[in-house]
Amino acid sequence: MTELPKDGSAGLLVLGGRDIAGITDVAELIGVAREALRKTSDLTAVQDVRRVLDLEEPGGACLSVMYAAIADLPLFGAKVLSVLPQNFARGLPSHRGGILLFERDCGTPVAIVDGGQTTAWRTAAASAVATQCLSRENSSVLTLMGYGEQAERHVVALSAIRPIREIRVWGRDPEKAEAFADKQRAAGFDAKGCDDAQTAVAGADIVCTVTSARTPILSGEWLTPGTHVNAVGASVPSIRELDDACVTRSGIWVDYMPMALTSAGEIVEAIRDGLISKDHLKGEIGAVINGAIPGRTSDDQITLYRSLGVPAQDIEFANFFYAVARSKGLGATVPFEDLNHA
Ligand code: NDP
Repeated sequence: MTELPKDGSAGLLVLGGRDIAGITDVAELIGVAREALRKTSDLTAVQDVRRVLDLEEPGGACLSVMYAAIADLPLFGAKVLSVLPQNFARGLPSHRGGILLFERDCGTPVAIVDGGQTTAWRTAAASAVATQCLSRENSSVLTLMGYGEQAERHVVALSAIRPIREIRVWGRDPEKAEAFADKQRAAGFDAKGCDDAQTAVAGADIVCTVTSARTPILSGEWLTPGTHVNAVGASVPSIRELDDACVTRSGIWVDYMPMALTSAGEIVEAIRDGLISKDHLKGEIGAVINGAIPGRTSDDQITLYRSLGVPAQDIEFANFFYAVARSKGLGATVPFEDLNHA
């Protein structure tokens, strides 16, 4: 990366959603997610659990802050997002904000990267990495519970690493589920909307829960031996998408253990209620990548990847987007000069 002046005179590079949309080779993004998960587990990344400020707006609206520094990357920083689940009904993204990046030498702010798009891609790409580690190789039937932004990105990311042929979509509104299925049929999948969640899940190879539900939408009793689950929604401990049977019937891997133990409602409650102990959790996906622990161990094991979102993912992705944008001349530079430098 070209050296930047440390006085801020180079300005702040602003990378919006459209800039990022031009940098989305999915195989490359999955590689970036893999690196972030690996560095989370070998502690190359220094990070903390997400900080959340609840807002008064309905449905779990909040301000979310995540920050990290990664030893082998030039830029560290923080992602600040507004999370407004009610935006989905307005046709707006529910996660919006930016990642402020600083260079290490003098702490100069160098860029703001769209946080909504980064979140959308890094989450689905991380699920793809986990699915590679945990699902059966011939997995071809994908069930999506939810039809929002994450559902879309999960189709793209998971079909890049498994031979997905059939897509089943369940959600509260059958018309929206069918509309989502329509889009997937146009993309070449054998896709259908499902009115009944249990039917959608039965016999699926991979199930993704990608909703803003606050109470369980997936019962572990519905899962067929061998299924892999990516649980993505419900990022604060007071809500959950999964019931107790999902937790007790599955081998569970997580993206970042400190987040899982504090923020995954179904895990926090299952430990509190004595249904499982911490030992029930197999470990982090990064530890599987690093070869420290195994992934799936038999064809009939039910595997569960609990995604909470890792700050290191945001910073790894933002560094990647920044480097590509600099090399391709993407984004807009705005003045952001310090006034008190020598
Ligand atoms: P969207 O707003 O784009 O979509 C939300 C989806 O949830 C829609 O399908 C909506 O459909 C559905 N939904 C809302 N309420 C309920 C309910 N009570 N029961 C069933 N479905 C419901 O959100 P995203 O796709 O961006 O995110 C999905 C979830 O993933 C959110 O919880 C989000 O916070 C979480 N997330 C997690 C990340 C992670 O790192 N683990 C990162 C990004 C997001 P409808 O309203 O029609 O029912």
